[in-house]
Formats: sequence, structure tokens, C-alpha cells
Amino acid sequence: MIKAVKILNDLQNLFFPITCLGCSEIISSNDALLCVSCRHQLPLTQFITYNDNPTEKILYGRIKVENAASFIQYYKKGISQQLIHQLKYKGHQEVGTFFGKWIGHEILNSDRFKGIDYVVPVPLHLKKLKQRGYNQVSNFGKEIATAIDAIYTEKLLLNTTYTSAHALKNRMQRATSSQNRFAYNEDFPIENKHILLVDDVITTGATLESCVRAFPKALQLKFSIITIAITS
Ligand SMILES: [Zn+2]
Repeated sequence: MIKAVKILNDLQNLFFPITCLGCSEIISSNDALLCVSCRHQLPLTQFITYNDNPTEKILYGRIKVENAASFIQYYKKGISQQLIHQLKYKGHQEVGTFFGKWIGHEILNSDRFKGIDYVVPVPLHLKKLKQRGYNQVSNFGKEIATAIDAIYTEKLLLNTTYTSAHALKNRMQRATSSQNRFAYNEDFPIENKHILLVDDVITTGATLESCVRAFPKALQLKFSIITIAITS
């Protein structure tokens, strides 16, 4: 039986070869996503392991976070850009799964990012969600939540860019800034919880700052942040 499965796999690889998302070389189905060489080229940051890392420094003086980190450094024309591009524009949601599993494991072995109740992705506005068909950080967030035994939810935070003011009025709390395109969903009341916000890339931190600001202070929430990549 096992032999039959192996033959089927080999046949599948023959007709539909799996290629490395970094360099397009054909890889074995056991190597998820990347060939060994590309995996070694990933510019890992190790930010998960220490305080005052560059991701936390981006957010200093703007929002209070318990812990923040980014997993890889984003370089133009590098493998990090290639992977984020595959994730965002080429339908390769497995990139999010790949990094989510890996980071989830790293967090478990770290003494930071403790006591997280919810994992929440930065929400896409509906128009974009329809175009793309998926939120590119969904799988990433789900894998992290599974690893650390937290609840993954897309219902707490909403992207209100194209929501009419009238629809908003009844259901949600508009954030203090009128420019804020995110809103906390009062249909899912929470208090005194620790929320891990996840996104694909952090550059200026403005998006993540807006997300945190969308939650009313009275809820006394704690926040941590993880992104797949950070631009240099
Ligand atoms: Zn490769």
C-alpha cells in the first residue's frame, strides 16, 4: 500500500513537478516550498528572540506592544521579495502556512510572546479580498494560533475602507481618528485579552498602528505583533 502511494507520488511529480518557489528548480515533494539552497538563503532576523529589535523600534512611542518581531528581512530582488510576491499575487497561500508553522514553533521555544489569547490578521478591505480571493496572512495567522493554542479570528477587526458610514454606525465603534480605516467589531466583545496582530510586511508600521488604535482603550487589551518580513 505504501509502495503504491509512493508510485503515485512519483508519477504525480513526473507530470506535475513541484518547483521551488524561490528558484523554480524541481524539488522533491518532501521539501515543502523551497529547495535546500533557497532555504539557506532566507535572511532570517532572529527578532523573535530579543527585545528592542528593529520591529519594536519602528513602533516605539506610537503604540504600546508587549512583543513585536519580523521573521525575515525584505530585500528587493531577493528571495524574501519573491516569496511575498508569490503569497500576495500568485495565489501561493502555502507561503503563509510555511512561515506560520515555523514561527509558531519558534514562539513556543521563546520566553517572549506569552499569554496570547487571539491571533488577528490585518484585514483586507472587501474589494481587495474579492479580487485576490484570500487574505494573504490568513494561513500564517492560523498556523501560529494552532502552534501556541490561541484563537484565530478575522471577526474582531474590520477593514472599513468601503463600508458606508450608515452601516458602520450600528455595528461598530469608529476609531478615534477619522482617517482610521479599521474598526473594532463590537459584536465580539472582549476585555483584558492579549491580541497578536499579524501582517505580511512591516515598513512604516502605520497599518499596524491603525489596527491597534481601532480598539477602544477601555477594553484594556494587550498587543503583540508579528510580520513575515520587515523592509530595511
Ligand atoms: Zn530554490
